[in-house]
Amino acid sequence: MHHYPDRTAWLQGGNARCIDPGPTPRRPWHVLLLGPPGVGKGTQAELIIESLGACHLSTGDVFRAAHHGCNGPVSPAMQEALGAMKRGELVSDATVVNLVRERVGCLCCAHGFLLDGFPRTRDQAEALDGMLAAAGTRLDAVINYTAAEEEILARVGGRRVCRRCKRGYHLDHKAPRTPGVCDACGGELYQRDDDRAEAVHTRLEAYRATARPVVEFYRAKGVLHEIDAHGSPGQVFEKTHAVLLAV
Ligand code: AMP
Repeated sequence: MHHYPDRTAWLQGGNARCIDPGPTPRRPWHVLLLGPPGVGKGTQAELIIESLGACHLSTGDVFRAAHHGCNGPVSPAMQEALGAMKRGELVSDATVVNLVRERVGCLCCAHGFLLDGFPRTRDQAEALDGMLAAAGTRLDAVINYTAAEEEILARVGGRRVCRRCKRGYHLDHKAPRTPGVCDACGGELYQRDDDRAEAVHTRLEAYRATARPVVEFYRAKGVLHEIDAHGSPGQVFEKTHAVLLAV
């Protein structure tokens, strides 16, 4: 089993360094996960990391860390971003791209990366392309998870996250051993504001409005793999694993 890196450099940005990045994996993976909110990208990211290594780079986790005051004082741009997040709207491209640019070291890291939640628009995809080219790296695979909307709504409603280590749980499919407590670190589990029903509808609309150009951008590059995300996390992971080992 692979070590779960602490992601300090990603979550805090600036000059922050990871405290315990663990051993360097034999193959540093450079993978991007796409799909609607609630499709299970975070769960798959955890399974991919446990099995293959790489560091989970989620832009949503950076905003949530800022929201919980983990990164010190909040800049005006971040304040605006947190307002958009709470409503379930997308944060502006400029703010998200700046945030990733400030963490570009994570894209060149010897541990590899698993990007989740970025890019969400065509402009973000182009900005990422430039950053990867400058970093001298490229994506091994882009995985697009798909699922029916009813399934997504059911999944999001039961979702819980650890306040401390950000691991994901689900009340039906992946319940913690003790209710409300993270199995891995003992942290408190909570429901994200934007997982409440009103915000989920806004998020799905934002997704529908911006996702297709991103998917087509990667299809044209020949790196896109579509995976049907119905079924248990284990079943979806089997398909994901097979795709990754074939690239
Ligand atoms: P996530 O955890 O990926 O679902 O992200 C939670 C929220 O953070 C989203 O609903 C947006 O408000 C914001 N966010 C995260 N990543 C991005 C992005 N790449 N572009 C715009 N907004 C984002």
